[in-house]
Amino acid sequence: MIDLLNLTNLQLRELLRAWKEPPYRAAQIEQWVYRELVTDFEAMTNLPHDLRARLASETKIGVPRVIAQNDSADGLTRKVLLQLDDGQTIETVLMLYADAPNSPALQEPAVKRRTVCISTQVGCPIGCPFCATGQAGYIRNLTPGEIVAQVLHFARALKPDPLTNIVVMGMGEPLMKFDVTWQAIESLTDPDRFGMGARRITVSTAGEIPGIERMAREPLQVNLAISLHAPDDELRNVLVPLNRKYPLKELLRAVRGYVAQTRRRVTFEYALMDHVNDQPAHARALAQLLRGLLCHVNLIPLNPTAASPYQRSPYERVKHFQNILTDAGIPTTLRVEKGIEIAAGCGQLRQAEKDRPGFPQ
Ligand code: SAH
Ligand code: SF4
Repeated sequence: MIDLLNLTNLQLRELLRAWKEPPYRAAQIEQWVYRELVTDFEAMTNLPHDLRARLASETKIGVPRVIAQNDSADGLTRKVLLQLDDGQTIETVLMLYADAPNSPALQEPAVKRRTVCISTQVGCPIGCPFCATGQAGYIRNLTPGEIVAQVLHFARALKPDPLTNIVVMGMGEPLMKFDVTWQAIESLTDPDRFGMGARRITVSTAGEIPGIERMAREPLQVNLAISLHAPDDELRNVLVPLNRKYPLKELLRAVRGYVAQTRRRVTFEYALMDHVNDQPAHARALAQLLRGLLCHVNLIPLNPTAASPYQRSPYERVKHFQNILTDAGIPTTLRVEKGIEIAAGCGQLRQAEKDRPGFPQ
């Protein structure tokens, strides 16, 4: 059965042509699926009955099943474990950003941003030792439809409020299967489909250079974030094992090329781990590495996982680290911890559920 979410704009039009339907039917279906967010063909009231029936018998609109859900105490973060058709599970997270830290949760107009964090793979082959997804190993890639379905899940839940941002920072390395991720992003940005502004989307990579080079050539102005976590090869080979394939010198060359071509600021993510990568010498080396680059560093407090020895750095050390970067002229933010108590770290809900008896494998 065809998942309509897996079809590109062109493929949907080809399918309808093969069915001898007039071309405008594609736009009508896209409106229902991506704007009205319906999941039932019977709701597509401007389509003739026989077309609705044929769609229902030969196609579907992929809707993953929610098998676990976790809300933060402040009501601003919701994490769901979604089950796919083959029984595999992935995590998707909704983060609401309030106007002021103490504005009442979820109350309009206090909520300014509604960001969904989506996965691109079941597990991840990169194997970063501090990451719950990396620890769990790799199972398979998602399809473009399975990536899009995560966004539609929360778009439906929030309706009529719109999602404002998408971050591709869930499970998996999004640039490894570039075409799959990009097809999903094209559906999400297509003005006739979901219509999210490309500048409101951020893709995070562990440093997949060919993907960075392709992003530099893409016309869509999607933001790029690089998970750096270490300023030298010796340490980064351990923390982000993809570094053995794409070492820092080559990675930075690719990122500089990306900035030169797109003139867009790149974000570097740096999770601070107690006595591992959080010393003043690391901060100085990082400042040296990024000198002159149009960039921004996101300092993230590590979310410790049960299966690894890495711990979060104490706040004073984080502040000191940040000050060194600031003094070197590098803009930073200390990432607000979103939903730490709901195991919001990548892959942590899935791990927690797996440890529970009766979890579908
Ligand atoms: N695989 C991609 C995108 C998903 S991970 C990547 O690595 O960039 C999103 C971000 O969360 C990455 O920067 C990742 O390094 C970070 N991360 C993973 N586990 C974490 C943890 N336990 N604590 C803090 N950040 C973590
Ligand atoms: Fe994969 Fe990103 Fe986790 Fe590393 S941090 S294992 S690249 S999901």
